[in-house]
Amino acid sequence: MEKSTKPTDCPKCGGKELGKGKHTGYGVMYPDGKMGLGSNVEYILCTDCGYIIESYVKKPEKFKGTLF
Ligand SMILES: [Zn+2]
Repeated sequence: MEKSTKPTDCPKCGGKELGKGKHTGYGVMYPDGKMGLGSNVEYILCTDCGYIIESYVKKPEKFKGTLF
């Protein structure tokens, strides 16, 4: 059973045109307590209303072990 998690429209306004954005530089997210090992963040967003539908860190493995 194939399950697609790819968003196709905006849950807020129903817009069909989604875009992809990226945070770099000062927008980098850092693991708690591990400054200097940040990861860029990517977004899937609605190009009509600007709602951010999904966000990802590019290197999620860097965040392992930061909570416990
Ligand atoms: Zn929208």
